[in-house]
Amino acid sequence: MTNLAFPSRQVGDFTITAISDGYLAASLDLLSNIDPADASRMLESAGARDHTSIHINCYLVRGGGCTALIDAGAGGFKQWGGRLTTNLALAGIQPSEIEAILLTHAHPDHVGGLTDGLGNAMFPNAELVAHHREVAFWQDDGNLSRTPERAHGSFLLARRAFDSYRDRLRIFDAGGEVLPGITTMPFPGHTPGHSGYRLDSGGRSLLVWGDIVHFPSIQVPRPDVSIAFDQDSHLASETRSRLLDLASSEGLLIAGMHLGELGFAHIERKGGTYGITYA
Ligand SMILES: [Zn+2]
Ligand SMILES: [Zn+2]
Repeated sequence: MTNLAFPSRQVGDFTITAISDGYLAASLDLLSNIDPADASRMLESAGARDHTSIHINCYLVRGGGCTALIDAGAGGFKQWGGRLTTNLALAGIQPSEIEAILLTHAHPDHVGGLTDGLGNAMFPNAELVAHHREVAFWQDDGNLSRTPERAHGSFLLARRAFDSYRDRLRIFDAGGEVLPGITTMPFPGHTPGHSGYRLDSGGRSLLVWGDIVHFPSIQVPRPDVSIAFDQDSHLASETRSRLLDLASSEGLLIAGMHLGELGFAHIERKGGTYGITYA
């Protein structure tokens, strides 16, 4: 049974549903290359009331013979999110029914929901699918030691997630099909192994682009604006520009973990800039 309260799209044989995990705390001060007052004005003219939080989506994909989840939300880490399993139940899905979790990257608001407070896997029958560079980055002790202590929790959470699924961890090292009809694409910059997933079925397509934007109404028209979460801000904005070009020229339906509660959008090129419309 599908709860119609969750935004949902049909892409050929796939049904993809945006499942809210809740919100994470943020601030416009995290943005670079833009004056916070300008950023604030852009949000206001887009009708955004709240400038201090970012919505987190996970995506449930049914079809092609599989029930999969793309990312798992924050799981309550730093009191962020944590509503995924409750909302999955409202959509008629129990954790044991999830057969695969496709990971865009291992930031806390994407892997926190993979484990419970004791480090047990929340999804007992799911394989965890991730880019090798992402797994390697978070497991590297050198990277951990170069990171300020206040951010060590992110490493520990990512390691706990990979460890809890170690017997069913599927690591890929290039773009290509990860499940029938679902291909992965490398979108580096936000993190080293940041990856998107493209669904193609029945002549229709949808791209789940992960964390390409955190404030869509700012970063779509201004892809040069990065957020402190982008590990390589230059590469992240290059990747963002490339994807805005791809999404607008192909008319691709986009899904993204921080697109907001509506979950799905189109990108349009307007003159020399890009705009986002929620389909
Ligand atoms: Zn991220
Ligand atoms: Zn994120």
